[in-house]
Amino acid sequence: MKTLKSSYQSLKKQFSILLFFTIIVFSCKSETEDYVCTPCDLECDELIFSEPGICPHCNMALIKKSDLEKMNQTIISGDLKINYKFLDEESLEKEAEFTEIITKSFTFYKDLFGGNPRDTLDATYADFTIKVKKTNDSGGEADAKSIMFNWSENNTLGYGSWKTVLMHELFHLWNGETIRYKNGEEHWFNEGFSEFYTFQTAVRMGIVSPEEMLSTSALSLGYYTGSKGLGNISMRTAGVDDKTKFENFFLVYHGGWITAMVLDVDIRSKTNNEKSLDDLMKWLYENFLRTEKLYDTTDIINGIKITSGIDYTEFFNTYIYITLRPY
Ligand SMILES: [Zn+2]
Ligand SMILES: [Zn+2]
Repeated sequence: MKTLKSSYQSLKKQFSILLFFTIIVFSCKSETEDYVCTPCDLECDELIFSEPGICPHCNMALIKKSDLEKMNQTIISGDLKINYKFLDEESLEKEAEFTEIITKSFTFYKDLFGGNPRDTLDATYADFTIKVKKTNDSGGEADAKSIMFNWSENNTLGYGSWKTVLMHELFHLWNGETIRYKNGEEHWFNEGFSEFYTFQTAVRMGIVSPEEMLSTSALSLGYYTGSKGLGNISMRTAGVDDKTKFENFFLVYHGGWITAMVLDVDIRSKTNNEKSLDDLMKWLYENFLRTEKLYDTTDIINGIKITSGIDYTEFFNTYIYITLRPY
């Protein structure tokens, strides 16, 4: 017959064995994390991997299972609703930085145009989806209510970075997707003015200093005056299709950017700083409902005349419609 003491001892022994295994099980658990494939809608989404790497089935990066639900998340800031789709964990880790840039520049752009962006049915919105991916070079694409954003730590032009690329794409929710060009001939305005306002806003937000903005603009001026199309093809014709737009990238993007800068300074100095290019942007937002009226260069000339009283027909004839070099 067992004594009370021996039962107690055997119980104690059993308990220590149990404790021992519990510790082992738990310590193993904290050392190995489960990994899953970045959601790709293929069967491999169901697989569990024991270490980070690339999914052998779809070649997408493996992510921590515990981060899975954060890869698709909605951030609400005031009226603004950002639906993120992060395509890798490094992008997820930068969510707070992206959100700060987006919320601040969204407010600036909304003030500039006088309202939220409008979708393809002309309904205003303050919610959009953004797919974020880390790549070798920053870049992106915008559609109504959606942005594709690729970022990298590499600088773009001058003091440009993924931050200004993100701001450029966000600007397209208004310029390009709310007010829309008749055809590719207006990319000098669509792209160039977006770059101009990106850098102007970046200065106002403190992302780049005024000096850094000026030296970046000086590079832009250099790219424009050195572009191979200058003197051979007009800024408008250069943007007409994807092929010529790519071949004349500097003429379209930087020619447009410098045009915006020159016009803004000129309008400000001629009106004692009472008018600026901002008035044109508001006028376009008010008068060009995407569903009813697409703009072209004549509308830009008209808009500046109406909002500032200045006629730039000759300037446009010289630098936008034909191919004169600016010197
Ligand atoms: Zn996979
Ligand atoms: Zn663009």
